[in-house]
Parts: sequence; C-alpha cells; structure tokens
Amino acid sequence: MDHTHAASTDDKLGDSMRAAFLETEGRLVMINAQMPTIQSSDQILIKVKTVGICGSEVHAFRGSHPFRKAPVILGHEMAGDVVSVGKSVSNFRTGDRVIVDPQWTCGECAYCRAGDINLCPSKRMLGTPSWPGAFGEYITAPENTVLHLPDSLSYTQGSLIEPLSVAVHVARRANVSANKSVAVLGSGSVGGMIVGVCRAYGAQPVVAVDIHEHCVEIARKRLGATHTLLVPDQKLADRMIDLAGGEGVDIVFVAADDPILVTQGVEMAKRRGRIMLVALLTSSPLNLAAYEILKKELEIVGNMSINPEDVQRAIAFAVSRQVDVNAIATHVFPIEEAQRGMELASTKDDGAIKVILSFGSD
Ligand SMILES: [Zn+2]
Ligand SMILES: [Zn+2]
Repeated sequence: MDHTHAASTDDKLGDSMRAAFLETEGRLVMINAQMPTIQSSDQILIKVKTVGICGSEVHAFRGSHPFRKAPVILGHEMAGDVVSVGKSVSNFRTGDRVIVDPQWTCGECAYCRAGDINLCPSKRMLGTPSWPGAFGEYITAPENTVLHLPDSLSYTQGSLIEPLSVAVHVARRANVSANKSVAVLGSGSVGGMIVGVCRAYGAQPVVAVDIHEHCVEIARKRLGATHTLLVPDQKLADRMIDLAGGEGVDIVFVAADDPILVTQGVEMAKRRGRIMLVALLTSSPLNLAAYEILKKELEIVGNMSINPEDVQRAIAFAVSRQVDVNAIATHVFPIEEAQRGMELASTKDDGAIKVILSFGSD
C-alpha cells in the first residue's frame, strides 16, 4: 500500500469537493459541495474512491423511499482512504484504506448496548441529509463506524461489503445451515449475495428467482444457485415446492420490492418455514393467507440493515473468496456519470446488477 500518495497534496484540500447531488426526484447533478470537516475528536475524514448504488437509492431517485429524500448527497456503500483523523482516533491513520458501516448510532440506548446497533432509534444513516453520503468526494465518519479494508480487496470489492453484510445478516437471522432448502425471490445485488452466503453455509437446493435472466444466470454461474426460475410465473410456488422435494421450502428470502412475493412465499414455505423480508420498502399492506401461516406455524421476519458481526463475517467471506462479491458488480462509472449509472441501476438494462461509481483510479 502506498501511504505517501494518499497523503500527498495533489488532492488539494480546499473547501469544496465534487459531488453527485440528488437535486430532485430523477435528477442527479454534479456540484461543488462544501467539503465536510472533522467536528469532534473521534471523527475521521475519508476520501471516497468507490461507492455502490444501492436499491434503496434507486428508490430515493424515484422519490419512493421513506427517508432518503432529495435534496441529498446519497451513497453509503463506500470504500476510500483516510485523509485525516481527530485527536482521539487510535486505530486509523492517514493513508489507511477503509470502508464504513453506514450507521451512526447513539452508543447509549439499550439496543446499542446489546450490540443491536441496527435498531438504534436515533441512528443516522450515511447518505441522508443528517449524514451526507459518499456520492460526495469526502465524508466524515466516527471511528467506531470505520473498518480497515484488507489489502487483498479492491476498493470496488470494499464497496460490496455492505450489501454482502446485509445478506449475512438475514442469513444469520434465518438460521441458514447445511442442507436447508432456500428460495431467493429477487436475485439482484442483495439477493445474489444471499445466494452466495446460503451456498457458503451449505444450504441446498438454493433457488434463485428474478424477472431478469441475467440476474439468475449470475446467481447460478458465479454465486452457486442450484436452480433458477424466472418470474412472473403463476406456478412459482408449485415449482419451488417440487424443487425442494415436495414438502415446501425451509427458508424464503423476499429480496425484491414486490408484495406479491410475500404472498407466494407463504404458499411455498414448508411447515415451520421462515419468510425473511429483506428489501420491501413499500408501505402498502401485505396480502397474506392467515390460516396458511397458522397451520404451517410460519415465521415472517423483518430485517433492517446490519450489525458489526455481520460486517466482520462479510469481510471474511470476501477475503476467502467463499462468496464472489465481484459477481454482482456489472458496471463501474466515473462519478460524473452518476445520472446514467442510476438510470441503469433502476432499469437493469445492459445486464446491469450493481453499478459502482468511482472518483478516480482504483
Ligand atoms: Zn445498501
Ligand atoms: Zn442507540
């Protein structure tokens, strides 16, 4: 690692920086934004190298996200270099390659003290007005949100640790283990990572389902899905039950924002099966067959973000190559093309799954 470059002055530390700014619904523009500065002794100033476009940010772009709303600097799937550190920072120094857990929590509530920081009622999320995100060239972050990016991982791979951590989180809560049957409804970026994590835990069959052929193909070829199905399909539940051996599926992950998938998940789940809700941002009610849930003793489980142990596990999966994180990174664009990147992430045209934005050479 070349410490001297990151610390050199060719990146002038003026007070403005490049940023792709979500000005209004559907419109990302390049601006010169105010550069953030270290505000307390535990903070770290980081120069962003890469940032992934998350499904939640596609919602923000369309104006359909509950709290990510324009005008805002989005971006929470980031990797970069430490530029400077506050006085009390002890584990990082200028030039370190880092990633950030995008949850700035209070550290004091019962959830934080128990380690369930994802449930902290007063947490700030990176990429919102209260904590401007990594579509800007610099961010600040408290030390306890920052992690070292291992040398064996590129910045792009670093940007994929957050979606991989989401997959680790839901797989952990679902108790995925060897020989469990798994259906992943929606196998784009987070869904693709769920396929990879479930296979790493030895689950089988692991069936990847999507509306896009390229998503299920990557899930099969690079992330280990044992079977794939394309939707819409009236017979989805029947086909899934057959693939799982006739009794139904142990674990259903709903990783696409379509409430009908939860309805179908209830149909295809085995007795005592679990339905894990991952990427549902809709506020509309779900249409569930109550007696099916009761009769089969199903569990329907919500999931929000990640915990520190999930991030550690995700880094280990990426470093060991047990999960091929690169599989979902289909496009890398310079930050100046954020608008085009967002449109591609939204339409999934041109074989797109995860679009990464870059502030320069990786
Ligand atoms: Zn994300
Ligand atoms: Zn808290």
